[in-house]
Amino acid sequence: MAKTRRGRKSPAVHPVMAAAIKLRPKLRQWRRHIHMYPEPSMEEQETAAYVVEQLREIGLHEMKTGVGETGVTCLVRGGKGRKTVALRADMDALEIEEQNDVEYASRKPGLMHACGHDAHTACLLGAGAILSGMAGKLPGNVKLVFQPGEEGSAGALKMIQDGCLQKPKVAAIAGLHLMHDLPSGDIGIRRGYRNAQTDEIDMTIHGVSAHAAAPHEGVDAIAVASQALIAVQQFLARHTDAVDRKLLTFGIIEGGTRPNILADAVRVRGTIRTIEPAGREAILTFLNKDLRKLVAAMGGKLTVRIEEGYPPLKNDDSVVDALEAAATDIVGEGRVVEVPVPGLGGEDFAYFGIEGGIPAAMSRLGTRDEKKGFTSPLHSSTFDCDDAKVLPVGAAHLAQTAIRMLRG
Ligand SMILES: [Zn+2]
Ligand SMILES: [Zn+2]
Repeated sequence: MAKTRRGRKSPAVHPVMAAAIKLRPKLRQWRRHIHMYPEPSMEEQETAAYVVEQLREIGLHEMKTGVGETGVTCLVRGGKGRKTVALRADMDALEIEEQNDVEYASRKPGLMHACGHDAHTACLLGAGAILSGMAGKLPGNVKLVFQPGEEGSAGALKMIQDGCLQKPKVAAIAGLHLMHDLPSGDIGIRRGYRNAQTDEIDMTIHGVSAHAAAPHEGVDAIAVASQALIAVQQFLARHTDAVDRKLLTFGIIEGGTRPNILADAVRVRGTIRTIEPAGREAILTFLNKDLRKLVAAMGGKLTVRIEEGYPPLKNDDSVVDALEAAATDIVGEGRVVEVPVPGLGGEDFAYFGIEGGIPAAMSRLGTRDEKKGFTSPLHSSTFDCDDAKVLPVGAAHLAQTAIRMLRG
């Protein structure tokens, strides 16, 4: 403990955090390079090659490439202990045109790292550098998992099916995600459900076309669809447990051919987000049974197609313990925040627990800084972060979590 000028004791910088601070220029260089050259899901060839090149420069050599198509794994061998734990970062970007006027802005039109996966990848490279620098003192092995296709392509599942959790067998896995509503450099911890189950819905309300001036001779699919869409929101608001978070958003509606013809079909597409499996079941039952009856009562016919997306991510308590203890080690108790509710976004990290069958959990790393103007949300064309501040915390947090998991 060092004494501050006011005489209060301030905690000394943790050695892992000190190592991350030394890496700051490298961390920025990595993140900015990846940011400038974004690649969409499952096309992360250049990013994967860059990751391999940087791992080699760090002095790491036990790499596997092409894992789950474009994924990379790298083993950091410890001096003692046989246990192996894993840390994961995602590498894919989004189809968004970047609006940030910065020197490291995307060099690829229509593509941008707007979900912070550039930062995640840089933080994981940093964690690899910190852990490899510990040499014989590392109490086990750490596998670095650089995964492709988080944004809708289930890259995590592809890597698991390709054996990324085997040889050596991984005992538990942790990861982090940037979060724009948390103060820059703070770490968010949550127990239990962290992300939602995502399902795509594609439904068509069929009517019967007729002259617009004689609606009684047909079935107006637009009128029936209007009632059906209101019924869906009514069902969610009044017939399901309000405490259990869930939503159904329709983002596309299309139907009709001419202003003076009764539309014979309306197609709506959207996404269903649920946390508890029972909540999901209730919504699916409503759509497939009750809504069908409602549409039939108005003379229409309903077809519903549900495409199952990512499973919900339920953070494992033992990994959360490691994440929380590591966060406190790195930034101190005052900057570790409890995240009160799960988000309704999807996260394919859930597959590590569900398909991989190992304890898995993720934390959040804050990026919000009003003074410096970092307030844009994830998935927006102006998302950015103060990388000099955020990246060392992320790299140290990941490295220290691995150490905590190995000791646990
Ligand atoms: Zn995203
Ligand atoms: Zn993301």
